[in-house]
Amino acid sequence: MANKKLVAGNWKMHGLSADLPEIAAIAAAASSYGNVDVALCLPATLIERAVRAVPGFAIGGQDVHSAEKGAHTGCTSAQMLRDAGAALTIVGHSERREAQHESDAEVKAKAEAGLAAGLGVILCIGESLDVRESGRAVEVVDAQLAASLPAETRDNLAVAYEPIWAIGTGKVPSVGDIGEMHAALRERLVAAYGEAGRGVRILYGGSVKASNAAEIFAVPDVDGALVGGASLKAADFLPIVAAAA
Ligand code: PEP
Repeated sequence: MANKKLVAGNWKMHGLSADLPEIAAIAAAASSYGNVDVALCLPATLIERAVRAVPGFAIGGQDVHSAEKGAHTGCTSAQMLRDAGAALTIVGHSERREAQHESDAEVKAKAEAGLAAGLGVILCIGESLDVRESGRAVEVVDAQLAASLPAETRDNLAVAYEPIWAIGTGKVPSVGDIGEMHAALRERLVAAYGEAGRGVRILYGGSVKASNAAEIFAVPDVDGALVGGASLKAADFLPIVAAAA
């Protein structure tokens, strides 16, 4: 049976109080799609206010520290996100893997911390353009997933395949390439977790928009999307949600 699709927005470093009405508009319209899970991963500063503004709608963070607490200036623990009312978090986004030099082992520890705190976790992986052009994308991303996966799965783990060269560029892999990658990632999840690996949602991320969402969602083993730029406005995001319904 196909997994219920998840369409999650990643607001990155965008969003002030003035944007709460946009979040409310997205949440109100998303609630009419009962067959799609919809979430917005917001900057930490907006989470608590967004949770109050749209009770029942899934608000998430974009990163967590792997430790429960301690001397980690500027960091946010998974418990802190839960305390703020978050339902989920992204971990291992390529912008953090690159700029903060996060290793697979660190991403794995973050994913485990998020799940242990009761958060849903969207674990990101993806290849650079050099790797794609070398023909080694499946091998490299599969190894990245194997090294980043939490030791045990839970129902609320999702994986987001996000080719780095497709993020924010308007470039998207062919549906054939997306299908090949998602099939390999599914095999990896089943190897790691047995049959439970079939229930781990595999999202595609990278320049998803209204005009390409339907064909991407039709690819086998694409269980939804992680959406950056097109998640900031209801007018751009909701057609993507509708394509998943
Ligand atoms: C992202 O950064 O997670 C992302 C998918 O961005 P965009 O949709 O803007 O390519």
